[in-house]
Amino acid sequence: MQAARMAPSVGRQLQRLGVGSSRPRALVWQPPPGPARRPYASGAAQAVLEKSNSSSPEASTREKQAKAESKSFAVGMFKGQLTTDQVFPYPSVLNEEQTQFLKELVGPVSRFFEEVNDPAKNDMMEKVEETTMQGLKELGAFGLQVPSELGGVGLCNTQYARLVEIVGTHDLGVGITLGAHQSIGFKGILLFGTKAQKEKYLPKLASGETIAAFCLTEPSSGSDAASIRTSAVPSPCGKYYTLNGSKIWISNGGLADVFTVFAKTPVTDAATGAVKEKITAFVVERSFGGVTHGPPEKKMGIKASNTAEVYFDGVRVPSENVLGKVGGGFKVAMHILNNGRFGMAAALAGTMRGIIAKAVDHAANRTQFGEKIHNFGLIQEKLARMAMLQYVTESMAYMVSANMDQGATDFQIEAAISKIFGSEAAWKVTDECIQIMGGMGFMKEPGVERVLRDLRIFRIFEGTNDILRLFVALQGCMDKGKELSGLGSALKNPFGNAGLLLGEAGKQLRRRAGLGSGLSLSAVIHQELNRSGELTVKALEQFAAVVEAKLIKHKKGIVNEQFVLQRLADSAIDLYAMVVVLSRASRSLSEGHPTAQHEKMLCDSWCIEAAARVRENMAALQSDPQQQELFRNFKSISTALVERGGMVTSNPLGF
Ligand SMILES: Cc1cc2nc3c(=O)[nH]c(=O)nc-3n(C[C@H](O)[C@H](O)[C@H](O)COP(=O)(O)OP(=O)(O)OC[C@H]3O[C@@H](n4cnc5c(N)ncnc54)[C@H](O)[C@@H]3O)c2cc1C
Repeated sequence: MQAARMAPSVGRQLQRLGVGSSRPRALVWQPPPGPARRPYASGAAQAVLEKSNSSSPEASTREKQAKAESKSFAVGMFKGQLTTDQVFPYPSVLNEEQTQFLKELVGPVSRFFEEVNDPAKNDMMEKVEETTMQGLKELGAFGLQVPSELGGVGLCNTQYARLVEIVGTHDLGVGITLGAHQSIGFKGILLFGTKAQKEKYLPKLASGETIAAFCLTEPSSGSDAASIRTSAVPSPCGKYYTLNGSKIWISNGGLADVFTVFAKTPVTDAATGAVKEKITAFVVERSFGGVTHGPPEKKMGIKASNTAEVYFDGVRVPSENVLGKVGGGFKVAMHILNNGRFGMAAALAGTMRGIIAKAVDHAANRTQFGEKIHNFGLIQEKLARMAMLQYVTESMAYMVSANMDQGATDFQIEAAISKIFGSEAAWKVTDECIQIMGGMGFMKEPGVERVLRDLRIFRIFEGTNDILRLFVALQGCMDKGKELSGLGSALKNPFGNAGLLLGEAGKQLRRRAGLGSGLSLSAVIHQELNRSGELTVKALEQFAAVVEAKLIKHKKGIVNEQFVLQRLADSAIDLYAMVVVLSRASRSLSEGHPTAQHEKMLCDSWCIEAAARVRENMAALQSDPQQQELFRNFKSISTALVERGGMVTSNPLGF
């Protein structure tokens, strides 16, 4: 059965893509919130209605399998399941004390950005003004998630999200300076550091006395992070490693005193004795000697944030500075990146909030053709879409942060989706803001052009959105592939696996007959959102049917079907977006929140359009012969362009 070999093969491709199949652990564990259950959600309702006789042995086997199954909604949707545990009800994870503490921080941090920081000046100077750096240190902004006993503010992920949202509203250049320091720069020490490493480094990093950077990218190694060449050779005495190599485009590279550096080290396989080069993570101090950096890069945006090459020339790194396990550096890198993605979505939700306020201000005050321009349908559609994109991003950011705070271990597809969605939504929203502002939007003074420049990098770094789309699709396919592998074994032993086979065959037959899977979200969403719930379920069924068909068709070859994978990822993103807004709007309706009816409109509008996109994409992928022609054409056109070195066609005038 080829299906049985599919999952590991997809896994290897994921590793190669530099996204890994790691299951990040939560930074701060919060007990699941007892009183936060909402009346519209009947406990941890699994909305899979396919009921079976619970006393049968097959049923109990299935129950055991279900228990071992992921709680991730995203993992479930690839299998045609509605796994609602992590998404319904919309989580409220902060206890009273945490909420109060956060409220006390929000005011001063907002005021600081409104009154002290000057984003235009930072952008012009191409560095963060010293008063801002100093003020942020005094506010504790350099150690937001460092435990208080080590000198930090000790915030959980949700509290952190709220504060980075404020930073994102005001200054993305400052945001990257802070993020490169704590979201990636020293996050490895927080997640993987020994007690000694934490005690040695975190207090000074938390106060901002020392600055951190994350050093993975090299001239020949970007998305393909596993191909780095920087090397760390252990000394014969075993007391230190000698580090040699260079890293490029390192945020804070010219400012940092402490670096998380990824390098290849020789690792001996205990079983075979063979020596293999594997990546190991190190905590490297500038003071070790041999660490230098290049000049600040001249960039399109986030100019205030320092970006530089960093060189390691015969740096002696003590063996106790290995971060995590020797040879386990790739996992360390992927955990760090997975762990920080919700922060990017939160910051960009803040950016959009600020930008939308500017667009609205202009639309409400600008008169053309004798009318305020907000009265024109074209402007109204833009503003409404901008609001929807912000609402989805914000809902995703706080859903993922809450899941992490609740101790969820399986959230990496969701985290990747939040990064992709947030960075693309913020770009679209800011671009439309400029359009609404007309010529004024193009001027420097309102500061929107700066935000657009700053935003461009978010679709590129910490995993390009293209690579993350492949990750979303392949990770989902891998989990579905495992199920299909189970199906393969079941076919070999049909009597022992009757339950599995009957269940699968039933599902497939129902799908083919267009009968639907019997899934429903009605038990977990507010009844006013039932229509959107039905659209979501239908879209999920269409999506899962195509995932299954493509896996059966391509088997492990799915890893090379990027045209298909991209479309699967796009629909996965739409589906997750539908579910998070359904969840959040349900909570607001159920609680009688003053904006509940507005949220219902945002949610319904999102679901109507997203469901249509999924329907069209999946129908085309499933049965449209022209789609195959399109893919062949894309490949041929691109090949011809590459062969020709640019456009193949000449000017219509012929010269
Ligand atoms: C301002 C800035 C700050 C940065 N900060 C840091 C930092 O602090 N630390 C750090 O380590 N790095 C940092 N980076 C590096 C950043 O993470 C990389 O630029 C990013 O990972 C992409 O790598 P690359 O630029 O080499 O692009 P490449 O990997 O060469 O990709 C080029 C294009 O090809 C696509 N592509 C690549 N492989 C595939 C594939 N298999 N299938 C389909 N498409 C593919 C990509 O999506 C992309 O569109 C920073 C970069 C910038 C610009």
